[in-house]
Amino acid sequence: MPSAAPTASLFLKEATALLGADRVFAQEEDSAAYSDQMAFEPQAHAPSGAIAPQSVEEVQALLRLANRTGTPLWPISRGKNLGYGGSAPVQAGAVILDLSRMTRILEIDIDRGYCVVEPGVSFYDLYDVLQSRHGHKLWMSAPGNAWGSVAGNALERGKGPQPYGDHGAQICGLEVVLPDGSLIRTGTGAMAGSRTWNLTHDTYGPAWDQMFCQSNFGVVTKLGLWLMPAPEATMTLDLQLPEAEDLKRGVDMLYPLRLRGLIDHDPAWVSYVGIASYVGPRSTWFEGEGLLPDDKGREIRQKLGIGWWNCQLNFYGHEKVIAAKCEAVIDAIAQHFPKRPVASVWRQGDPFMQSKAGIPGTRDMAMIDWYGGRGGHMGFSPILPADGAAALAQFERTRARFIEAGLDYYGAFSVGARAVVNINEILYSRDDERMASAVPQLMHHLIADAAAQGYCEYRTHIDYMDEVAGTLNFNEGAMGRLNGLLKDALDPRGILAPGKQGIWPARYRS
Ligand code: ADP
Repeated sequence: MPSAAPTASLFLKEATALLGADRVFAQEEDSAAYSDQMAFEPQAHAPSGAIAPQSVEEVQALLRLANRTGTPLWPISRGKNLGYGGSAPVQAGAVILDLSRMTRILEIDIDRGYCVVEPGVSFYDLYDVLQSRHGHKLWMSAPGNAWGSVAGNALERGKGPQPYGDHGAQICGLEVVLPDGSLIRTGTGAMAGSRTWNLTHDTYGPAWDQMFCQSNFGVVTKLGLWLMPAPEATMTLDLQLPEAEDLKRGVDMLYPLRLRGLIDHDPAWVSYVGIASYVGPRSTWFEGEGLLPDDKGREIRQKLGIGWWNCQLNFYGHEKVIAAKCEAVIDAIAQHFPKRPVASVWRQGDPFMQSKAGIPGTRDMAMIDWYGGRGGHMGFSPILPADGAAALAQFERTRARFIEAGLDYYGAFSVGARAVVNINEILYSRDDERMASAVPQLMHHLIADAAAQGYCEYRTHIDYMDEVAGTLNFNEGAMGRLNGLLKDALDPRGILAPGKQGIWPARYRS
């Protein structure tokens, strides 16, 4: 991979003159702090340093400076893209453009259900304001590990288990600094004084919001995001299926209900190791070497009272409406369970923690302690058709690869109306030399296996961005050529996040 380092020191020197020394982080320990905290070899993606602008004008000035010095910049919002590279760039030596000091919540419109945030606004920040100033009249969706930013997560198409849980799809209206330093607003925000910027995806001409998701075409400085009006009540069904093969019926029982609007979020079937990892490290259950034995797995499930697959179905809205929907769903799925599932109810006024709103937390992070030592996790996230047989086959292929790699399987299948997002978490200890070679090998196999089935990833770790981009091979990689054309037109000096999502500017393409 081409190195980005040569001009970084000149850039950082001039950036210091521009912004002041207290916004430049160029010591060795800074580079370490912005590296991938979960990597076996963090130096492979170590940045030269970081710079933290506080305004749009400063972002523009830094991009112009980067063009002058030819220095690659890697924008991050809060840099918590854990499992996919954290705050680290694809290219070692790039300078991190750390937007975490841009923390204004510019607008919250309770009546029309949206907010406009700067990149550094965290899930906790937004939650606090929705709670303290607006009495939870709007509910947000939050990912499992909610350390990161609202904007960065949405731009990566992060997911949450709530009705507005497809975060990328809730984006409405972006302000973007293009690689040359110029400023645009997408959608109807293209009109000065627009009164509908964050209200509609309709616009005149092409709609560009999604162009800035998982791309290196611009730095997003403001992001409009739709939020859910607080429901009057929620109802919850906790479901379990006892055997690994039950995934087939697990998917087939849910997607038709999702398609017909009886379920309005993507419920996920989560394998038991994931749930056990929130309770304690693997040593809680098993001290031995090698794979977690089947009988230990059974013991875990028994002790925790969980299934091989576990799923929570939530209903949000007027109590009469959701009670009817919930009843119809129970009628449709009851045959699959030994006892007819019974819903729990939450009503406005009950403790908010029990509401099933998106409440930021970091419980899922416990998974990195599974093996003990300096832990880590890496996501492998293919998209499958909503079809039980396809999901089961994918699970079996994936689990066989985990077994081959000597790693305990942990996966979740998030059931949409037409597709299933299969997020697998590869858990490891960075102190384990065997795992240091097993994990990358496993990733290579999984990417190739999925591509052979016609399944594409929805997101990947910085180590595998080229590899996954290489699987987009229709018409000899026509999408890669289009992305390259756009990249060169927008960023002729090739300074913005080279290599992100496998998109390289001309200066680095051979
Ligand atoms: P979070 O802190 O929300 O988890 P990150 O800040 O780590 O997210 O962002 C994840 C990735 O998304 C970054 O590595 C970068 O490629 C991209 N990204 C994040 N914020 C922006 C932004 N404001 N503009 C453009 N790309 C961004």
